Amino acid sequence: MNNELSNKVVVVTGSSRGIGRELIIKLALEGASVVINYKDNYEKALKLFRYVNNFNKKCLLVQADVSKEDEVKRLYKETIEKFNSVDVLINNAGICSDNYIQFMSLEQWDEVINTNLRSVFLCSRIFSKAMIKRRHGKIINVSSIKGLLGSEGQCNYSASKAGVVGLTKSLAKELGAFNISVNAICPGFIVTDLNRESSNKARIAQEMSVLNVNNSLNDLLNFVVYMSSEKLKGVSGQVFSLDSRIL
Ligand code: NAD
Repeated sequence: MNNELSNKVVVVTGSSRGIGRELIIKLALEGASVVINYKDNYEKALKLFRYVNNFNKKCLLVQADVSKEDEVKRLYKETIEKFNSVDVLINNAGICSDNYIQFMSLEQWDEVINTNLRSVFLCSRIFSKAMIKRRHGKIINVSSIKGLLGSEGQCNYSASKAGVVGLTKSLAKELGAFNISVNAICPGFIVTDLNRESSNKARIAQEMSVLNVNNSLNDLLNFVVYMSSEKLKGVSGQVFSLDSRIL
């Protein structure tokens, strides 16, 4: 275990699987106290909790649907009760539900916007309270390259992720006075359960990469550790594309 983040409390929303899960493991290996949040996959979340507990006891597991205000309040309350403060909030929870606009139901639109954008608003609003008190904190929002470029058949997803970019910049302006930085990352294509079925998209992304690679999860993990650490201090309101396509 390293000590890069040994005095940090980090919350990762939607962290029972995928990028969130890997972030939890990486951050815990760097010594951070970590809050694993899951919506409904208790088995997977518990497995992760037990795994992390083997090498880092500073770990909390909280069920909460982060698109719901009362559940986000509980996530916050349980985090503060356990760790007394929070240093880094990583708004990672996200879904997609694709369709062309003519076939997209209002439910599909609302579900994606609420999960990917409303959750960032709800979590940032309450967790920044604790950060404001201490005049210290970082919010890292997981947007997507699709939020910058748009994406056919994904108007709900790309709109939600573009919304996260606007929210990031606005919050950076509001919270900077309290020494809270707010930044977004925009991953390109990383194979997870979210997109496993779209192997065609992975191939296309790789073909467009100037390095002829798909995006690396390790790059993202190392980048987020760096963003979470004291090594990065004077950067806020920025949007980092973790991609190798020039579009
Ligand atoms: P994933 O589906 O494996 O993980 C998403 C996680 O969010 C799951 O654990 C899910 O249960 C959780 N979640 C969904 N709704 C929730 C809710 N209401 N409350 C709490 N948790 C909830 O997908 P992933 O690829 O790991 O994606 C993680 C983030 O990265 C997402 O925001 C996604 O949009 C973004 N992203 C992924 C890629 C990629 O290529 N994988 C690219 C760009 C952006």
